[in-house]
Amino acid sequence: TQAQLFKDQEVVSEEAGARISVLLPLPLAGPLDYRVPDDLRERLHPGVVVEVPLSGRKAIGVVWPTKGGGKTFPLGKLKPVERIIDVPPLMDDLMRFVDWVSAYTLSSQGAVLRMCLSVPAAFGEVPVKRHYVCAPNVPEGLRMTPAREAVLKVLSDGKPRMAPEVASLAGVSDGVVRGLADAGALVALDISVDQPYPQPDTAIKGPKLSGEQTEAAEAIRAVVWEGGFKPFLLDGITGSGKTEVYFEGLAEALQEKGTQVLVLVPEIALTSQWLERFEARFGVAPVVWHSEVGQAERRRAWRAVASGDARVVVGARSALFLPFKKLAFITVDEEHDPSFKQEEGVLYHARDMAVVRAMQAKCPVVLASATPSLETQVNADEGKYEVLKLRERHGVAVLPEMRAVDMRAEPPEAGTWLSPILVREIEETLAAGEQVMLFLNRRGYAPLTLCRTCGHRIECPSCSAWLVEHRFRQELQCHHCGHMEPIPEACPTCESKESLVACGPGVERLFEEVTRRFADARTSVMTSDTMMSPSQTAAVVKEIAGGHLDIVIGTQIVTKGYHFPNLTLVGVVDADLGLRGGDLRAGERTYQQLVQVAGRAGRAEKPGKVLLQSYEPEHPVVQALLTGDGDAFMAAEKTARAQYHMPPFGKLVAVILSGPEMAEVLEVGRALAKAAPVEHGVDIVGPAPAPMVRIRGQHRFRMLLHAKKHVKVQQLVRAWMMRVKPKSSVRIKVDIDPYSF
Ligand code: ADP
Ligand code: ZN
Ligand code: ZN
Repeated sequence: TQAQLFKDQEVVSEEAGARISVLLPLPLAGPLDYRVPDDLRERLHPGVVVEVPLSGRKAIGVVWPTKGGGKTFPLGKLKPVERIIDVPPLMDDLMRFVDWVSAYTLSSQGAVLRMCLSVPAAFGEVPVKRHYVCAPNVPEGLRMTPAREAVLKVLSDGKPRMAPEVASLAGVSDGVVRGLADAGALVALDISVDQPYPQPDTAIKGPKLSGEQTEAAEAIRAVVWEGGFKPFLLDGITGSGKTEVYFEGLAEALQEKGTQVLVLVPEIALTSQWLERFEARFGVAPVVWHSEVGQAERRRAWRAVASGDARVVVGARSALFLPFKKLAFITVDEEHDPSFKQEEGVLYHARDMAVVRAMQAKCPVVLASATPSLETQVNADEGKYEVLKLRERHGVAVLPEMRAVDMRAEPPEAGTWLSPILVREIEETLAAGEQVMLFLNRRGYAPLTLCRTCGHRIECPSCSAWLVEHRFRQELQCHHCGHMEPIPEACPTCESKESLVACGPGVERLFEEVTRRFADARTSVMTSDTMMSPSQTAAVVKEIAGGHLDIVIGTQIVTKGYHFPNLTLVGVVDADLGLRGGDLRAGERTYQQLVQVAGRAGRAEKPGKVLLQSYEPEHPVVQALLTGDGDAFMAAEKTARAQYHMPPFGKLVAVILSGPEMAEVLEVGRALAKAAPVEHGVDIVGPAPAPMVRIRGQHRFRMLLHAKKHVKVQQLVRAWMMRVKPKSSVRIKVDIDPYSF
C-alpha cells in the first residue's frame, strides 16, 4: 500500500546519514554507532574527530568509514554525537592502515587508533597567550602619563606583544599595560603559542654523487616523481652514502606543494649528527617524534602533521601512526634493527608496517641498511622490492680490516678482558693520535654477583633474572623490571662477609681495566645509563668528533649511525656474546650488530681496523665478518630457515600467557592446548615456560604456532582464542611474527 511504501522509504532515508560509526581509542570489538544531530549532519564525514558520550563520560573518537561488528541498535536508542573537535580530520589512508594493522596483529581497531591519537592534549583548546596592540583610536579623555606614553610608543610598530615584554621594553610595570587595556587604548589578542614550522628548502644542492649513488638516487627520484606505491631496498655498505641517497628522495618528494615525508629510525639512532646533516641539507630542522619528546612539543607536532604544516617527520616506530595529510615518501633507515619490533601493547614490526603504510598512502618506501634483514632480502629475491646497491665507501674510505683474536690461544690475564693483541693495537692507535672504540653489549659492572662460600646468585625478587651490578651508581639492578637495591655487604643466604664476587664483565668493569692500563688516555663510557638525555649524548658525540676523547667504551648505543673520522680501531670484546641462547635470529642479529660496530672504524681518510675477540672464531658469523662475505652467510641462513619453514618461509605466532598465579596460567595454557586447531600444515607446541619465566612477578608460559606459508594464521588464531573462556587473572598476548623466541 501507499502508506506502507511511504513508511519504508522513511526508514531508508532516516538511516542514510542519521547514524554513523565512531571508533574510540579503546580496546572494544569495533566502532560504535551514534546518532547524528541535525546541526552536524553536513560535517560528520569519516575521519572527523568527535566527542561522544560513553557510559556517562565523554570520549574522543573518529568517525569511521566501516561499521562495527556488534549489534545494531534502533536509532531511537542511540546517543548523539556531542561535538566536532577542532582538528584536521584523519585521512583515508590512515584509517585503512589502522584497519589493516588491526586485522594483521589481531589487536582491536581501537587499540591501534589509540596510537594515532596518542596526544590527548592535541584535542583540547589550543593554548593561547594574551598579546596587546594599540587600539585604532586613542579613546577620548584618556589620561596620559609618561609611563603610558612609553607603552604606546613600544607598541606603535604594530607587533603584538605580551604584557611583561611591553613592560620591560617600556621600563614600566605590567599594571600600566593592563591599565591601558582597561581604558580601551590597547586591544587584547589571544594568540596561539604554536609557531608554524619553517618549510624545508629543496633548492639547496646535496653533494655531488658518485656513479652508483646517482643511479640509486635517480631510481628513487623517478618513482617519487611519478607517485604510487613502490618499495625499494637500499643495500649499501656502511659509509657508502645511503643517507645522501635517500635525502635525494626526500628532496624530490618535497618539491611538490604540501607533500610530507617520513623517516623512521631506531630510537637510539636519532642522533644529533643525523639532525645536523638534515639541517645542512634542507635548511630547517625536521619534526622529531619519539618517546622522549615532551607533551607540549608532541601536541604542536601532531597538529602540524595533521594540518600538513609539518613537512618532514623523523621518528621512532610510533611516527607511523601520525595523521599525515599528504604522505608522499617513507624511508626506514637501519631497517634490520630489532628495535623496530614493538613488544608492548599492539605488537607490530614497524619496518613491515611502514611498507603497508606506504601501500595505503600510495607512495614509495625505501628500506635502507648495510645488513638487510633476512625478511627484506627474501622480499627482494622474490622481486617484491627493487634492490639498489652501493658497494663502495664514499671517497677514499675503505672498509676496515677485520681480524679475529682466538681467545683460547691468546687469553687475557685473569680478571681482565682485553687480550694482549688488542692491548698492543690500542697502544699503537693511541700513539698515532687516533681514537679507539671498544664494544661490549653489557651495561653495568658485572652481569652476575655470586657468593664464593655458598654459591648463591643474587636474583631479582620478581623476575627470573640475575641482578646486574652498577658500580658507578653503587647498586644492583634488574634489567627487566628496573628493580634496584644496594649492593649487600654480606651474602643474603649464608651471611658470610666479603664472599660476594662480581662475575663477568660489563662496560663499567671494562672501563676500570682500560683506565688502569691506559692511564693517560681520555676514556668515556657510552651506555643508556650514562647517556640519560639526547643533549648529554650530543655532548659526548661532539667530544669524540672533536678529538677530546681517546677511547670510547660502549654498548649497542654506539653502533648506530655515528661518523667519527679519527676513529680507526674498533675492538669487539666478546664477539660470541649474542650467539649464546640459540634464538632463531641470534646469528643474523649478531652479524648485523657487529657489521654496524665495525662500520664505525676508518670512515674517512685513515683506514680502520677491527679486532674480534672470540672463543669460537670458526663460527659462521665470525667467519662472515672476517671474509666480508655476508651474502654467503645470509644465503646459508636462508637455506636453513627455508628447510624448516621458519619465517619468512613459514609463519610463527607466539601466544604468551601470564599471571600472578602459576597454576592459573598453566590451566589456561592447557585449555588452549585442548582447543588448539588441528589443521594440515599447522603445528602447535606448548604450553611451555616462556624464555623469561617470570617478569615483574608474572609467571609466563608460551604456546607457539608454526604454520606453512599459505596458512591464514590470523583466522585460525582468532577462532582458537574464541574457543577458550578468558580468565581475568591471566593475560593472553598474541604475537604474530614474534621477533625472538
Ligand atoms: P651511510 O648512510 O651509507 O652509512 P653516509 O650517507 O652517512 O653513509 O655517508 C658517509 C659519509 O660520507 C658521510 O659523512 C657523508 O656525508 C659522506 N658522503 C657520502 N656520499 C658523499 C658524496 N657523494 N659527496 C660527499 N660526501 C659524501
Ligand atoms: Zn653465601
Ligand atoms: Zn626484575
